[in-house]
Parts: sequence; C-alpha cells; structure tokens
Amino acid sequence: MRRLVLAFLILIVGSPLPAQTVSKRVGLVTISVDEGLAFPGGLFVVRLQSRRGIGRVVASFDGLRCPFFNTRHGQRALVPIRPTLAGGTATLGIELEARRGRQRIPVRATIAPREYPPRSVTLPDGKLALLMRPGAVRQSRQLLLTLRLESTEQEWRGPFKAPVDADPVYGYGAPTHYAGAANVEMATDSLFGEYHRGMDYLVPPGTVVQAPAAGRVVLAAPQILTGNTLVLDHGQGVLSVFFHLSRIDVKEGEWVESRSPIGLSGDSGIAAAPHLHWAVYVHGVAVDPRVMESLAD
Ligand SMILES: [Zn+2]
Repeated sequence: MRRLVLAFLILIVGSPLPAQTVSKRVGLVTISVDEGLAFPGGLFVVRLQSRRGIGRVVASFDGLRCPFFNTRHGQRALVPIRPTLAGGTATLGIELEARRGRQRIPVRATIAPREYPPRSVTLPDGKLALLMRPGAVRQSRQLLLTLRLESTEQEWRGPFKAPVDADPVYGYGAPTHYAGAANVEMATDSLFGEYHRGMDYLVPPGTVVQAPAAGRVVLAAPQILTGNTLVLDHGQGVLSVFFHLSRIDVKEGEWVESRSPIGLSGDSGIAAAPHLHWAVYVHGVAVDPRVMESLAD
C-alpha cells in the first residue's frame, strides 16, 4: 500500500529526477537531453554515456557545433539556444567518430516558448559619438573571437553567483532600440541581433564586482564601446563578460576563484548611466546568465 501511495505521489508531483529529459539509445551509446533550461536564450544540456570507447563527439544545432567535454558526471555538451529562436520542437545532431566511421544521431527535443519585453535606451550625445570611433569594429571582432574560446577543462564548480549583491534592473534578451543609433548591441560583440546580451545592475559607480565562478582572465583592457572590459574563461566554451568598469583589478592570464573581487563598476564606454553589465557566452552565443546560476555540475 505504501508503495502504491509513493507511486501515486511521484505521478502527481513529478519524479525527483530531472523533470524534462529526452533519452535515446543507439547501440552502446545513450544520449540524454535535459530540457529544463531549454528556452530561447537558454541551453540544452546533453549528456552521453557509452559502453565502448568513442572519439570526438559534437552536438550540432542551429549552425553551431558544440563539443562534448569531460565533467565529473561524464561527457556533456552545453548547446546554447539563440534568444531569437521560437519555442517548439528542435532536432539536435549528435555526431560521433566511431571505428566504423562517422555517425550522426538525430535527437528531437523541445524548446519552451519565452518572450522578452522590449526596451528603449537613450544615450548621451558624447556616448553616441563612440560608435564612429575608428577601431571600434576591429575591437568587437576581436572580442567575439575571445568569446568563442573552448578550453577543455571545466573551471567552475556549482551554480554561478551574481557578481554584485543586487537584483538586475534590466534583464537579458530584451529587443533593444537605441534612440538615434542602429545596431548598438551588434557593434559591441559583432553578433547579429539587437537584443540585450546580459543583465544590467544599476549599482553605484565603484561597486566591487566579484567573479561569478572560477576562471581565467582572458581579456582585461579598455575598449572603445564596452569601456573597461573583462572576460573570464570558465572553460568548456563558457565565458563571462563585464562591461563599463571604472577599474579592473586583475591581469590577463590570471586565475580567479569564485567570488574573488575583479574590479569596480562604472560607466566607461557606451553606457547610458553607471551600471554593471554581466553577460555569459556559451560557444559564442550570449545566453541568459541565470541559466548558469541554475545549472548544476
Ligand atoms: Zn547591458
């Protein structure tokens, strides 16, 4: 009887295991796609188990090729979902290199719908002029190359923590219109689409910014549009970006622990007001930083 009640409870409240996981078994390989964070601006978390040795494995989706990396819980690929994609059914291609050649396994999964409210921004004239400065385009292309790094090791442990002790006032994903200027978001990182890449915390200038997770500093330099800019490589294609700092307190190549101070907030570069902009890129796609705040190891 007790077992029956338990089964009934699991039926009504859901299994204690990840709620939305699609699994597919092909021969000795099992692929599981966790859809818990799968929405426009989110991620598919794809895990792979194999009872035979396999070579390089890649998850392909929406023109992206996302390699699998070793984690504490086996092989995993994080597959970003662009915020401009609509919800619905999607097909991921899992490409394996086996002894008998390449194999492509299609796995169907679901993207939950999500809408982002639009936002309008008015920049002071002096800031608008930065868009015309020579070198801005070259810097944004260089930034994109940095954001596409795929270091093998997972440097972070556990969920990411917000870089300041405040709630973001402007969130991720908002289709953004800048008065008197076109393609401002695109000008910052060379990615297509005028949507907000990260979260804005309207903290007073000089607020200490902490690393949301461990990683290596791969860019720490003043930039024309993004101001004092800091990029942390957390490994496995995941990077954090901070714009508009008033001061950077770490150097390129330096390793930082989670929660360690890395700089001070400000309004350098093309900022309408003093704030901290934090964005997270996964395989070169800006995703909602909150997905890393809720992604378990
Ligand atoms: Zn921002």
